[in-house]
Amino acid sequence: MKTVILKPSDENIALCAEAINGGKTVAFPTETVYGLGASAYDTKAISEIFRVKGRPNDNPLIVHVASADAINGLVREVTPLAEKLIARFMPGPVTLVLKKSKSVPDQVTAGLDTVGVRMPSHPVCVKFLRACNVPVAAPSANTSTRPSPTCAKHVLGDLAGRIPYILNGGHCEVGLESTIVDVSGAVPKLLRAGGISRDEIAEACGCEVEIA
Ligand code: AMP
Ligand code: MG
Repeated sequence: MKTVILKPSDENIALCAEAINGGKTVAFPTETVYGLGASAYDTKAISEIFRVKGRPNDNPLIVHVASADAINGLVREVTPLAEKLIARFMPGPVTLVLKKSKSVPDQVTAGLDTVGVRMPSHPVCVKFLRACNVPVAAPSANTSTRPSPTCAKHVLGDLAGRIPYILNGGHCEVGLESTIVDVSGAVPKLLRAGGISRDEIAEACGCEVEIA
């Protein structure tokens, strides 16, 4: 397979969205790092992400959406803590872990009953996610032992020949992975440090943040 880097024209974004809806994987930019995406509802395409990355099946993927509304369909409940963090940090470099709804396949969450959801702010990513019109499950667009890529060329260097398209959105501004916070319960738990600090999360929640 030839891997092509696509400039983010409307036509190319439509082409990438078509590929996602046709069961393919596509690398796309976010403000944190590049993601390797597939439709969150397509279990075959999800398996392909794990295969391409050499990722262990017990490592869950984050589901990316273009709007806060789209989160409702993925989770059982948007908790009061989630509402606070959505209002403050979305779109942006934060991932919220909530109890998953039945619509999210077990392959995406590695069998967990929670799902990580994120709404990126990168303008090319937002256009891409809107065009896909399905939630896009994605880990970072690197093979499992390599660093997370922050530009299209890094993705090509790592995944050339294994994916059809890399949507080019330039250099990732944050360059750090998203901060992951479990807000499924009454107390927020920091699962991964990242683009937003623990203090900022605590301030927005109005309470201490546990470290899980
Ligand atoms: P990556 O995008 O490659 O950094 O991988 C996504 C990371 O998100 C995983 O390695 C997990 O650490 C985290 N993650 C995704 N979903 C969940 C979840 N439901 N519960 C806990 N952590 C999660
Ligand atoms: Mg990663």
